[in-house]
Amino acid sequence: MKPAIATVCLSGGLQEKLEAIAAAGFTDVEIFENDLIAFPGSPADVRRMCADLGLTICTLQPFRDFEGMPDARRQRTFDRAERKFDLLQELGTDLLFVCSSVSPEAQGGIDRLAADFRELGERAAHRGLRVGYEALAWGRFVNDYRDSWEIVRRAGHPAVGLILDSFHVLSRGIDLSTIATIPKDKIVLVQLADAPKLQMDHLSWSRHWRCMPGQGELDLAGFMDALAATGYDGVLSLEIFNDRFRAGSARAVAVDGRRSLLTMIDDASVRTGRRIAGVPPLPSRAPVQGVEFTEFAVDEGERASFEALLRAMGFGCTGRHRSKDVSLWSQGAVRIVLNSDKEGFAHSYNITHGTSVCAMALKVPDASATLSRATALLDKPHAGAVGPGELDIPAVRGLGGSLLYFVDDASPLGRWSEVDFEPTGEAVPGLGIDHVDHVSQSMQYEEMLTWLLFYTSIFDARKTPSQAVIDPGGVVQSQVIESALGSPGHGLRLVLNGSQSHRTLSSRFLSEFFGSGVQHIALAARDLVAAVRSMKAAGMEMLPIPDNYYDDLEARVDLAPETIDTFRELGILYDRDDNGTFLQAYSTTLEGGFFFEFVQRDGYAGYGAPNAAIRLAAQARLARPLDIPSL
Ligand code: MG
Ligand code: MG
Repeated sequence: MKPAIATVCLSGGLQEKLEAIAAAGFTDVEIFENDLIAFPGSPADVRRMCADLGLTICTLQPFRDFEGMPDARRQRTFDRAERKFDLLQELGTDLLFVCSSVSPEAQGGIDRLAADFRELGERAAHRGLRVGYEALAWGRFVNDYRDSWEIVRRAGHPAVGLILDSFHVLSRGIDLSTIATIPKDKIVLVQLADAPKLQMDHLSWSRHWRCMPGQGELDLAGFMDALAATGYDGVLSLEIFNDRFRAGSARAVAVDGRRSLLTMIDDASVRTGRRIAGVPPLPSRAPVQGVEFTEFAVDEGERASFEALLRAMGFGCTGRHRSKDVSLWSQGAVRIVLNSDKEGFAHSYNITHGTSVCAMALKVPDASATLSRATALLDKPHAGAVGPGELDIPAVRGLGGSLLYFVDDASPLGRWSEVDFEPTGEAVPGLGIDHVDHVSQSMQYEEMLTWLLFYTSIFDARKTPSQAVIDPGGVVQSQVIESALGSPGHGLRLVLNGSQSHRTLSSRFLSEFFGSGVQHIALAARDLVAAVRSMKAAGMEMLPIPDNYYDDLEARVDLAPETIDTFRELGILYDRDDNGTFLQAYSTTLEGGFFFEFVQRDGYAGYGAPNAAIRLAAQARLARPLDIPSL
């Protein structure tokens, strides 16, 4: 199986695209004709550039509106094809990519179309070239792979084969079972793309909304399994038209593409039990058992007030690091590491971001296997300074340059808090805060698909459909990634937020925080009312919620008036679903934009989305006035 990507997926000039593609480890590339036309050098220069980078050009694409032309135009169309053949030979590739015609002049009739391909195949074969035929989802007469396959079959020429594109097949909901009946040597190229499920015309959907396999909602797994049944082992090429990717960094998008392909090929092998020769299996996806610790980078000036906040929240300082200016704070299963060391990663993180979450550790069954899966998927491992006798906890670079650690109970890593920290003997007051319920990260809208793929490729976690949340400054897209229900421990619950408006709280966090990062951590309390009461009594400021919310709540839900009065007094938000209820309260926001959320989850599956607009409005009222001009 040769991994490829089409140049159309990436931003930049052709040279930049090819360098990014080679750097990400692709062996093959599809040259999109517009990239060639816009390139100032000759096709022979492109051929040399690819050869120097170790890239094989698997095809030149696309050749449009070829088949079914009326007799008067037919000769001219073949002349056009001959010129493309010249170009193919100059580029040093042998496959011409023909997509089904959308020309209003084109005529139908399966035998006429097959005859056109037979002649094209004959001409290609004279030059030692091949032709592949793809059914576009919006093709005039041919928009179903079963028809393009029938045409290729009837053409009956060894130089004519079929091109399958997962988007064109899956976006039309076409039955996949015919794929398994196609002889593998008649499939000359397979293109892969995923997409969110949208109600729009196929052309716009395809041109703007395709995404990497695993980032969307199409049944790529079903497509891959049908393909595996043919025994196909040729080029698997990403063809992704996406406005975000075109605006992003070519290198980053190429890495995402490679990661997506590696993940999908491995997943298909696991499902079907068919291993591709030369492709070693990845360690399996890690089921996350919970957030083991979060590490805050806090400088000396901020430390006292942050410690006072943790004490008001019922935490106690239970450990001091053996060699660094780092303390450990505990309550229930929650571990917070405060790092004020003058050197190292947390210090540089603090200089950029202020008080912030610089690292997060997830508990998995086998930390070193998780690290090897992550590095095989091109994530960057991090090696920090480790003192004598201290643990070297495996980590990769996460969002915004933060660290994501992996800890397990099967190795000495599980004893990190005893090995690296001297116990203080201090008692933990405790307000019934038990574990981390979820972690919310804010990022650029354009980065959301990257981090979605990052988490879902390493961990055994699913994504739920993305939701739009209304912020007073615009719309925020919210994407949840979570462990399956019934997973061991507390599982993984992540909320990724991104916004295209500069005025939303999520975007303001990015500018005030100088980058993407953890915006809030939600801690699960056993009795939220009691916990918030104690926090307020300890002098902690909670986010005030307007009276109107409670008037509305009273009208909407069947709760005792005393209960609603208590919620009103404490600023507690309420939601429920078919499974249970959810209570939420928020701390005020720290300098830099971080805040804590406190929740009580009784069977409820969501994240309080109906309350998000209320919370965002309350936070916006407390935020400093925007110093950007109003638009
Ligand atoms: Mg295609
Ligand atoms: Mg939350």
